Amino acid sequence: MSASIPSPLPHIASLHAYTPGLQPAGAGWVKLNTNESPYPPSPSVAEAVMRELGSGPTAGASLRLYPNPTSAALRETIATHHKTECPSLTAANVCVGNGSDDILNLLVRAYCSAAAPLAFTAPSYSLYPVLVAIENGRCEAIPFTRDMTLPVEKIAASAAPIVFLTSPNAPTGVGFTNADIERILARYRGLLVVDEAYALFARENAAPLLTRHPNLAIVRTLSKSHALAGIRVGYALAHPEVIGALDRVRDSYNVSRLSQAAAIAALNDDAYYHDPASGIIAKIKRTRDRWQNVWRARGWFTYPSQANFIFTEPKNARGETGAAVAKAAYDYLYAHKVLVRYFAGHPLTESFLRISVGTDDEMAVLDNTLQAWHKNA
Ligand code: PMP
Repeated sequence: MSASIPSPLPHIASLHAYTPGLQPAGAGWVKLNTNESPYPPSPSVAEAVMRELGSGPTAGASLRLYPNPTSAALRETIATHHKTECPSLTAANVCVGNGSDDILNLLVRAYCSAAAPLAFTAPSYSLYPVLVAIENGRCEAIPFTRDMTLPVEKIAASAAPIVFLTSPNAPTGVGFTNADIERILARYRGLLVVDEAYALFARENAAPLLTRHPNLAIVRTLSKSHALAGIRVGYALAHPEVIGALDRVRDSYNVSRLSQAAAIAALNDDAYYHDPASGIIAKIKRTRDRWQNVWRARGWFTYPSQANFIFTEPKNARGETGAAVAKAAYDYLYAHKVLVRYFAGHPLTESFLRISVGTDDEMAVLDNTLQAWHKNA
Protein backbone atom coordinates (compact mmCIF):
# COMPACT_ATOMS: atom_id res chain seq x y z
CA MET A 1 0.00 0.00 0.00
CA SER A 2 1.21 3.51 -0.73
CA ALA A 3 1.41 6.15 2.01
CA SER A 4 -1.74 8.18 2.69
CA ILE A 5 -2.05 11.51 0.86
CA PRO A 6 -1.19 14.46 3.12
CA SER A 7 -4.16 16.78 3.80
CA PRO A 8 -4.01 20.45 2.95
CA LEU A 9 -4.73 22.99 5.70
CA PRO A 10 -8.25 22.49 7.14
CA HIS A 11 -9.62 25.73 5.63
CA ILE A 12 -8.37 24.62 2.19
CA ALA A 13 -9.77 21.10 2.63
CA SER A 14 -13.23 22.58 3.19
CA LEU A 15 -12.94 25.35 0.58
CA HIS A 16 -15.59 25.68 -2.15
CA ALA A 17 -13.72 26.91 -5.21
CA TYR A 18 -15.20 29.61 -7.44
CA THR A 19 -17.41 28.13 -10.16
CA PRO A 20 -16.53 29.69 -13.52
CA GLY A 21 -19.20 29.95 -16.22
CA LEU A 22 -19.55 26.85 -18.39
CA GLN A 23 -17.42 26.55 -21.51
CA PRO A 24 -19.55 24.35 -23.78
CA ALA A 25 -17.82 21.80 -25.98
CA GLY A 26 -18.60 21.63 -29.68
CA ALA A 27 -20.04 24.10 -32.15
CA GLY A 28 -23.42 25.74 -32.44
CA TRP A 29 -23.73 27.35 -29.01
CA VAL A 30 -24.86 30.90 -28.37
CA LYS A 31 -22.63 31.71 -25.41
CA LEU A 32 -24.07 34.52 -23.31
CA ASN A 33 -22.97 33.37 -19.85
CA THR A 34 -19.65 35.03 -18.92
CA ASN A 35 -19.95 38.64 -20.10
CA GLU A 36 -17.28 38.25 -22.75
CA SER A 37 -17.36 40.69 -25.65
CA PRO A 38 -19.33 39.50 -28.67
CA TYR A 39 -16.88 41.42 -30.88
CA PRO A 40 -13.18 40.78 -31.46
CA PRO A 41 -10.53 43.06 -29.94
CA SER A 42 -8.89 45.83 -31.96
CA PRO A 43 -6.89 44.40 -34.91
CA SER A 44 -3.86 46.18 -33.46
CA VAL A 45 -3.84 43.58 -30.65
CA ALA A 46 -3.01 40.66 -32.94
CA GLU A 47 -0.42 42.83 -34.72
CA ALA A 48 1.26 43.66 -31.39
CA VAL A 49 1.29 40.01 -30.33
CA MET A 50 2.81 38.97 -33.69
CA ARG A 51 5.37 41.75 -33.38
CA GLU A 52 6.29 40.54 -29.90
CA LEU A 53 6.64 36.98 -31.20
CA GLY A 54 8.72 38.02 -34.20
CA SER A 55 8.80 36.07 -37.44
CA GLY A 56 11.05 33.91 -39.59
CA PRO A 57 13.58 31.47 -38.16
CA THR A 58 13.74 33.27 -34.79
CA ALA A 59 9.94 33.53 -34.29
CA GLY A 60 9.10 33.10 -30.63
CA ALA A 61 12.66 33.82 -29.47
CA SER A 62 11.59 36.60 -27.08
CA LEU A 63 9.58 34.04 -25.11
CA ARG A 64 12.88 32.71 -23.72
CA LEU A 65 13.01 35.84 -21.62
CA TYR A 66 10.92 36.75 -18.58
CA PRO A 67 8.51 39.64 -19.11
CA ASN A 68 9.05 43.07 -17.59
CA PRO A 69 8.36 42.31 -13.90
CA THR A 70 6.32 45.45 -13.21
CA SER A 71 4.64 45.73 -16.64
CA ALA A 72 6.33 49.16 -16.65
CA ALA A 73 5.34 50.29 -20.15
CA LEU A 74 1.77 49.12 -19.59
CA ARG A 75 1.55 51.03 -16.29
CA GLU A 76 2.63 54.17 -18.17
CA THR A 77 0.04 53.53 -20.90
CA ILE A 78 -2.71 53.03 -18.30
CA ALA A 79 -1.76 56.22 -16.42
CA THR A 80 -1.81 58.23 -19.66
CA HIS A 81 -5.12 56.64 -20.62
CA HIS A 82 -6.76 57.94 -17.41
CA LYS A 83 -5.18 61.42 -17.51
CA THR A 84 -8.29 63.19 -18.76
CA GLU A 85 -10.42 61.85 -15.88
CA CYS A 86 -7.69 62.16 -13.27
CA PRO A 87 -4.87 64.54 -14.31
CA SER A 88 -2.65 63.80 -11.30
CA LEU A 89 -2.43 60.07 -12.08
CA THR A 90 1.03 58.59 -12.82
CA ALA A 91 2.45 55.08 -13.22
CA ALA A 92 3.03 55.09 -9.44
CA ASN A 93 -0.78 54.89 -9.06
CA VAL A 94 -1.05 51.72 -11.19
CA CYS A 95 -0.57 47.99 -10.54
CA VAL A 96 -1.23 45.47 -13.33
CA GLY A 97 -2.55 41.97 -12.73
CA ASN A 98 -3.21 38.69 -14.49
CA GLY A 99 -6.84 39.73 -14.97
CA SER A 100 -8.62 41.82 -12.37
CA ASP A 101 -9.19 38.59 -10.42
CA ASP A 102 -5.44 38.72 -9.68
CA ILE A 103 -5.74 42.31 -8.43
CA LEU A 104 -8.72 41.39 -6.21
CA ASN A 105 -6.70 38.48 -4.86
CA LEU A 106 -3.73 40.77 -4.09
CA LEU A 107 -6.01 43.19 -2.27
CA VAL A 108 -7.41 40.39 -0.12
CA ARG A 109 -3.92 39.00 0.53
CA ALA A 110 -2.59 42.41 1.56
CA TYR A 111 -5.52 43.70 3.62
CA CYS A 112 -7.59 40.77 4.98
CA SER A 113 -7.27 38.20 7.71
CA ALA A 114 -9.51 36.65 10.36
CA ALA A 115 -8.99 39.82 12.41
CA ALA A 116 -9.35 42.16 9.41
CA PRO A 117 -12.56 41.25 7.56
CA LEU A 118 -13.47 42.10 3.99
CA ALA A 119 -16.88 43.77 3.73
CA PHE A 120 -18.80 43.62 0.46
CA THR A 121 -22.28 44.34 -0.72
CA ALA A 122 -24.34 41.24 -1.54
CA PRO A 123 -25.35 39.86 -3.93
CA SER A 124 -22.25 40.64 -5.92
CA TYR A 125 -19.30 38.92 -7.55
CA SER A 126 -19.15 35.46 -5.99
CA LEU A 127 -15.35 35.30 -6.19
CA TYR A 128 -14.90 37.70 -3.23
CA PRO A 129 -15.78 35.25 -0.42
CA VAL A 130 -13.69 32.55 -2.12
CA LEU A 131 -10.60 34.80 -2.08
CA VAL A 132 -11.21 35.51 1.61
CA ALA A 133 -11.68 31.80 2.39
CA ILE A 134 -8.33 31.00 0.74
CA GLU A 135 -6.66 33.41 3.19
CA ASN A 136 -8.67 31.92 6.08
CA GLY A 137 -10.09 35.41 6.55
CA ARG A 138 -13.49 36.73 7.51
CA CYS A 139 -16.26 38.32 5.39
CA GLU A 140 -18.99 40.78 6.24
CA ALA A 141 -21.81 40.85 3.72
CA ILE A 142 -23.76 44.13 3.53
CA PRO A 143 -27.08 43.10 1.97
CA PHE A 144 -28.92 44.84 -0.84
CA THR A 145 -32.69 44.85 -0.87
CA ARG A 146 -34.70 44.18 -4.03
CA ASP A 147 -34.65 47.85 -5.05
CA MET A 148 -30.82 47.64 -5.21
CA THR A 149 -30.27 51.10 -3.76
CA LEU A 150 -26.77 51.44 -2.36
CA PRO A 151 -26.67 50.91 1.45
CA VAL A 152 -24.51 54.03 1.85
CA GLU A 153 -24.90 54.40 5.61
CA LYS A 154 -24.15 50.74 6.35
CA ILE A 155 -21.01 50.78 4.19
CA ALA A 156 -19.81 54.09 5.65
CA ALA A 157 -20.28 52.73 9.18
CA SER A 158 -18.50 49.40 8.52
CA ALA A 159 -15.63 48.61 10.89
CA ALA A 160 -13.99 46.40 8.24
CA PRO A 161 -10.61 47.77 7.07
CA ILE A 162 -11.51 47.10 3.42
CA VAL A 163 -14.77 47.16 1.46
CA PHE A 164 -15.39 45.85 -2.07
CA LEU A 165 -18.15 47.69 -3.92
CA THR A 166 -18.97 46.48 -7.44
CA SER A 167 -20.18 49.25 -9.70
CA PRO A 168 -21.93 48.57 -11.98
CA ASN A 169 -22.89 45.63 -9.82
CA ALA A 170 -22.85 42.01 -10.93
CA PRO A 171 -25.14 40.23 -11.54
CA THR A 172 -27.73 43.05 -11.51
CA GLY A 173 -26.02 45.59 -13.80
CA VAL A 174 -27.11 48.43 -11.51
CA GLY A 175 -24.56 51.28 -11.37
CA PHE A 176 -23.95 53.63 -8.44
CA THR A 177 -23.29 57.35 -8.66
CA ASN A 178 -20.09 59.13 -7.73
CA ALA A 179 -22.22 61.25 -5.39
CA ASP A 180 -23.13 58.10 -3.42
CA ILE A 181 -19.53 56.84 -3.48
CA GLU A 182 -18.38 60.20 -2.09
CA ARG A 183 -21.03 60.01 0.63
CA ILE A 184 -19.37 56.75 1.71
CA LEU A 185 -15.88 58.23 1.46
CA ALA A 186 -16.89 61.20 3.59
CA ARG A 187 -17.06 58.85 6.59
CA TYR A 188 -15.41 55.53 5.83
CA ARG A 189 -11.75 55.40 6.89
CA GLY A 190 -10.73 51.98 5.52
CA LEU A 191 -9.85 51.17 1.90
CA LEU A 192 -12.87 51.45 -0.39
CA VAL A 193 -12.28 49.32 -3.49
CA VAL A 194 -14.66 49.97 -6.36
CA ASP A 195 -14.61 46.99 -8.72
CA GLU A 196 -15.28 48.69 -12.05
CA ALA A 197 -15.08 45.64 -14.31
CA TYR A 198 -18.07 47.01 -16.27
CA ALA A 199 -17.46 50.76 -15.87
CA LEU A 200 -16.99 51.51 -19.55
CA PHE A 201 -20.61 50.50 -20.19
CA ALA A 202 -21.82 52.85 -17.43
CA ARG A 203 -22.79 56.52 -17.29
CA GLU A 204 -20.17 57.37 -14.66
CA ASN A 205 -17.01 55.94 -13.15
CA ALA A 206 -15.10 56.75 -9.97
CA ALA A 207 -11.67 57.53 -11.50
CA PRO A 208 -12.15 61.32 -11.15
CA LEU A 209 -12.50 60.81 -7.37
CA LEU A 210 -9.02 59.33 -6.95
CA THR A 211 -7.30 62.71 -6.60
CA ARG A 212 -9.43 63.69 -3.63
CA HIS A 213 -9.59 60.33 -1.81
CA PRO A 214 -6.37 58.47 -0.93
CA ASN A 215 -8.45 55.62 0.55
CA LEU A 216 -10.18 54.86 -2.77
CA ALA A 217 -8.90 52.10 -5.07
CA ILE A 218 -10.40 51.30 -8.46
CA VAL A 219 -10.14 47.92 -10.15
CA ARG A 220 -10.52 47.63 -13.93
CA THR A 221 -10.25 44.85 -16.49
CA LEU A 222 -9.66 44.63 -20.22
CA SER A 223 -11.70 41.39 -20.30
CA LYS A 224 -15.11 42.92 -21.03
CA SER A 225 -14.94 46.35 -22.68
CA HIS A 226 -11.69 45.59 -24.54
CA ALA A 227 -12.66 42.07 -25.62
CA LEU A 228 -9.53 40.55 -24.07
CA ALA A 229 -10.79 38.00 -21.54
CA GLY A 230 -8.33 35.49 -23.00
CA ILE A 231 -5.28 37.67 -22.46
CA ARG A 232 -5.89 38.18 -18.70
CA VAL A 233 -5.09 41.83 -17.93
CA GLY A 234 -6.64 43.89 -15.18
CA TYR A 235 -5.30 46.72 -13.06
CA ALA A 236 -5.67 48.78 -9.91
CA LEU A 237 -5.64 52.58 -9.72
CA ALA A 238 -4.82 53.75 -6.20
CA HIS A 239 -2.55 55.75 -3.93
CA PRO A 240 1.15 54.75 -4.35
CA GLU A 241 1.15 53.26 -0.84
CA VAL A 242 -1.69 50.90 -1.76
CA ILE A 243 0.10 50.04 -5.03
CA GLY A 244 3.24 49.35 -2.97
CA ALA A 245 1.34 46.84 -0.82
CA LEU A 246 0.01 45.04 -3.93
CA ASP A 247 3.50 44.95 -5.44
CA ARG A 248 4.86 43.34 -2.28
CA VAL A 249 2.40 40.44 -2.44
CA ARG A 250 2.15 39.77 -6.18
CA ASP A 251 4.07 37.20 -8.20
CA SER A 252 7.23 38.76 -9.65
CA TYR A 253 6.21 38.07 -13.27
CA ASN A 254 2.42 38.13 -13.02
CA VAL A 255 1.68 39.38 -16.55
CA SER A 256 3.09 37.61 -19.62
CA ARG A 257 5.04 39.34 -22.40
CA LEU A 258 2.24 38.74 -24.90
CA SER A 259 -0.38 40.07 -22.50
CA GLN A 260 1.56 43.27 -21.82
CA ALA A 261 1.99 43.91 -25.57
CA ALA A 262 -1.68 43.13 -26.29
CA ALA A 263 -2.97 45.41 -23.54
CA ILE A 264 -0.84 48.37 -24.64
CA ALA A 265 -2.09 47.98 -28.23
CA ALA A 266 -5.72 47.80 -27.11
CA LEU A 267 -5.50 50.86 -24.87
CA ASN A 268 -3.90 52.83 -27.70
CA ASP A 269 -6.78 52.19 -30.10
CA ASP A 270 -9.39 54.57 -28.71
CA ALA A 271 -11.43 54.80 -31.91
CA TYR A 272 -12.05 51.04 -32.15
CA TYR A 273 -13.45 50.90 -28.64
CA HIS A 274 -14.79 54.37 -27.89
CA ASP A 275 -16.09 55.89 -31.12
CA PRO A 276 -19.70 56.87 -30.30
CA ALA A 277 -20.99 55.52 -33.64
CA SER A 278 -18.76 52.60 -34.68
CA GLY A 279 -16.97 51.75 -31.40
CA ILE A 280 -17.71 48.31 -29.99
CA ILE A 281 -18.59 49.66 -26.53
CA ALA A 282 -21.32 51.92 -27.96
CA LYS A 283 -22.58 49.03 -30.10
CA ILE A 284 -22.93 46.77 -27.05
CA LYS A 285 -24.73 49.54 -25.13
CA ARG A 286 -27.21 50.04 -27.99
CA THR A 287 -27.96 46.30 -28.18
CA ARG A 288 -28.33 46.17 -24.38
CA ASP A 289 -30.76 49.08 -24.27
CA ARG A 290 -32.86 47.70 -27.12
CA TRP A 291 -33.30 44.26 -25.53
CA GLN A 292 -33.89 45.41 -21.99
CA ASN A 293 -36.69 47.59 -23.36
CA VAL A 294 -38.15 44.61 -25.25
CA TRP A 295 -38.25 42.45 -22.12
CA ARG A 296 -39.65 45.26 -20.00
CA ALA A 297 -42.38 45.89 -22.57
CA ARG A 298 -43.18 42.17 -22.30
CA GLY A 299 -43.76 42.70 -18.58
CA TRP A 300 -40.53 41.10 -17.34
CA PHE A 301 -38.97 42.99 -14.45
CA THR A 302 -35.48 44.01 -15.65
CA TYR A 303 -32.96 46.09 -13.72
CA PRO A 304 -31.64 49.13 -15.61
CA SER A 305 -28.30 47.79 -16.81
CA GLN A 306 -25.16 49.89 -17.00
CA ALA A 307 -23.08 46.83 -17.84
CA ASN A 308 -22.68 44.46 -20.82
CA PHE A 309 -25.32 42.07 -19.48
CA ILE A 310 -29.00 42.19 -18.58
CA PHE A 311 -30.56 40.79 -15.41
CA THR A 312 -34.17 39.95 -16.14
CA GLU A 313 -36.91 38.05 -14.30
CA PRO A 314 -38.67 35.76 -16.77
CA LYS A 315 -42.41 35.13 -16.59
CA ASN A 316 -44.02 31.92 -17.76
CA ALA A 317 -47.26 31.75 -19.79
CA ARG A 318 -49.33 31.97 -16.59
CA GLY A 319 -47.55 35.17 -15.61
CA GLU A 320 -45.63 33.48 -12.79
CA THR A 321 -42.08 34.35 -11.70
CA GLY A 322 -39.77 32.67 -9.20
CA ALA A 323 -36.82 30.33 -8.88
CA ALA A 324 -38.56 27.39 -10.57
CA VAL A 325 -39.63 29.57 -13.51
CA ALA A 326 -36.14 31.06 -14.03
CA LYS A 327 -34.48 27.64 -13.72
CA ALA A 328 -36.96 26.20 -16.24
CA ALA A 329 -36.15 29.02 -18.68
CA TYR A 330 -32.42 28.41 -18.14
CA ASP A 331 -32.82 24.67 -18.76
CA TYR A 332 -34.90 25.24 -21.91
CA LEU A 333 -32.30 27.66 -23.28
CA TYR A 334 -29.52 25.20 -22.41
CA ALA A 335 -31.33 22.36 -24.16
CA HIS A 336 -31.48 24.60 -27.25
CA LYS A 337 -27.76 25.46 -27.03
CA VAL A 338 -28.21 28.96 -25.65
CA LEU A 339 -26.08 29.47 -22.57
CA VAL A 340 -26.93 32.19 -20.02
CA ARG A 341 -26.18 32.35 -16.27
CA TYR A 342 -28.49 31.32 -13.45
CA PHE A 343 -27.62 32.10 -9.82
CA ALA A 344 -29.46 29.71 -7.49
CA GLY A 345 -29.66 29.99 -3.74
CA HIS A 346 -30.07 33.75 -3.16
CA PRO A 347 -33.56 35.27 -2.90
CA LEU A 348 -32.47 38.34 -4.89
CA THR A 349 -30.98 36.35 -7.78
CA GLU A 350 -32.78 33.00 -8.02
CA SER A 351 -35.79 34.26 -10.00
CA PHE A 352 -33.58 35.97 -12.62
CA LEU A 353 -31.40 35.15 -15.61
CA ARG A 354 -28.21 37.03 -16.35
CA ILE A 355 -27.79 37.40 -20.09
CA SER A 356 -24.53 38.74 -21.55
CA VAL A 357 -25.12 41.12 -24.45
CA GLY A 358 -24.27 39.34 -27.69
CA THR A 359 -24.31 40.31 -31.35
CA ASP A 360 -27.68 41.26 -32.84
CA ASP A 361 -27.92 37.77 -34.37
CA GLU A 362 -27.14 36.04 -31.07
CA MET A 363 -29.71 38.16 -29.24
CA ALA A 364 -32.33 37.28 -31.86
CA VAL A 365 -31.65 33.53 -31.41
CA LEU A 366 -31.81 33.96 -27.62
CA ASP A 367 -35.11 35.84 -27.76
CA ASN A 368 -36.72 33.42 -30.22
CA THR A 369 -35.77 30.57 -27.89
CA LEU A 370 -37.12 32.46 -24.87
CA GLN A 371 -40.39 33.09 -26.68
CA ALA A 372 -40.65 29.39 -27.61
CA TRP A 373 -40.09 28.52 -23.93
CA HIS A 374 -42.72 31.05 -22.88
CA LYS A 375 -45.28 29.52 -25.24
CA ASN A 376 -44.67 26.03 -23.85
CA ALA A 377 -44.03 26.90 -20.20
N1 PMP B 1 -15.04 41.80 -11.26
C1 PMP B 1 -16.28 41.48 -11.63
C2 PMP B 1 -17.43 42.18 -11.01
C3 PMP B 1 -16.49 40.50 -12.63
O1 PMP B 1 -17.74 40.17 -12.98
C4 PMP B 1 -15.38 39.86 -13.21
C5 PMP B 1 -15.56 38.82 -14.29
N2 PMP B 1 -16.08 37.62 -13.89
C6 PMP B 1 -14.11 40.21 -12.76
C7 PMP B 1 -13.97 41.20 -11.79
C8 PMP B 1 -12.86 39.50 -13.24
O2 PMP B 1 -12.50 39.77 -14.52
P1 PMP B 1 -11.07 39.41 -15.08
O3 PMP B 1 -10.34 38.56 -14.07
O4 PMP B 1 -11.32 38.70 -16.35
O5 PMP B 1 -10.37 40.71 -15.26
